[in-house]
Amino acid sequence: MSLSRRLLLGASRSTWLARQLSQRAFFRRAVRRFMPGEDLGAALAAVSDLAREGIGSVLTQLGEQVTSRDEAAGVRDHYLRVLEEIRRRQLPTEISVKLTHLGLDLSPKACLHDLLALAARAAAAGAFLWIDMEESRYVDATLDLYRAVRSEHARVGVCLQAYLHRTFTDLDRLLPLGPAIRVVKGAYNEPPTVAFPKKRDVDAAYVALAERLLKEAARARALPVFGTHDLRLIGHLRERARALGVPRDGYEVHMLYGIRSADQRALAADGCVVRVLVSYGTHWFPWYVRRLAERPANVWFVLRNLV
Ligand SMILES: Cc1cc2nc3c(=O)[nH]c(=O)nc-3n(C[C@H](O)[C@H](O)[C@H](O)COP(=O)(O)OP(=O)(O)OC[C@H]3O[C@@H](n4cnc5c(N)ncnc54)[C@H](O)[C@@H]3O)c2cc1C
Repeated sequence: MSLSRRLLLGASRSTWLARQLSQRAFFRRAVRRFMPGEDLGAALAAVSDLAREGIGSVLTQLGEQVTSRDEAAGVRDHYLRVLEEIRRRQLPTEISVKLTHLGLDLSPKACLHDLLALAARAAAAGAFLWIDMEESRYVDATLDLYRAVRSEHARVGVCLQAYLHRTFTDLDRLLPLGPAIRVVKGAYNEPPTVAFPKKRDVDAAYVALAERLLKEAARARALPVFGTHDLRLIGHLRERARALGVPRDGYEVHMLYGIRSADQRALAADGCVVRVLVSYGTHWFPWYVRRLAERPANVWFVLRNLV
């Protein structure tokens, strides 16, 4: 991992920096590139615009590692309202949650209870519930909760990170569930004991995981979602899907709002199922700095907003 990426990922966890930068106008202007706004209204307007272009979406309220059960219950209630809006407006929109935002650190049992409530509401809304993957110390608990929710609800999926050494084994263990899996490269600062430090190894692991999932999808036994902006990788996976006989709606490509928007439209126009993950909320600092770390050239974009 490059020094700039490591430094940025370290900075993403600094509460001092978050306090210093979050209020600065130039920083807030730069964030707008990846986020239509801080409130749900702005996010709903963005997903409606995407829907008009034939592109589905996934909504996520930014936030993680809450420190009280009241906060966690507030997040659950917020998402229940979002699902109600999705149902009322008939939007082609799903939601994605972070378990530490729903209080995983405080009580896994209460977190599971809230997750089940969201899965039930998502099913009633004709939507889908995604579970993000956070730092490696949360993987076991996240997969345990995913298994518990998946045993009661079909329309729920989980994210797996290709950079972790353990992920191939995790995938093997999840496959009997007929899972929906969003494969990503991985966004956190992990030591080489748990994650591949070299990008080429992460990319190779991604292809191997995707291949495994596509073979299951060819038998309608899994829904693979490729959460990536890597167009070469997407091209390769689409080829493999065709060769394996996976139908066009048997897998999806998900990208982040504001990244490669023209390619999102081009892929959708070419018959690929594309969704855009739209983030909103006031707790955007750690999330935004992770986006900078993914492409340190983005830091210039922040600096350009200084002038
Ligand atoms: C829908 C979705 C959900 C995700 N959920 C999770 C999750 O739950 N847990 C997790 O750890 N990670 C998550 N991620 C982030 C992921 O792990 C990667 O950090 C991120 O997607 C960048 O890697 P990449 O696959 O796009 O490939 P890279 O090889 O990093 O990038 C490929 C190309 O995409 C472009 N690009 C990538 N990132 C950016 C950026 N920030 N700004 C501008 N251009 C960029 C660049 O042109 C780059 O050359 C998610 C990503 C997506 C798209």
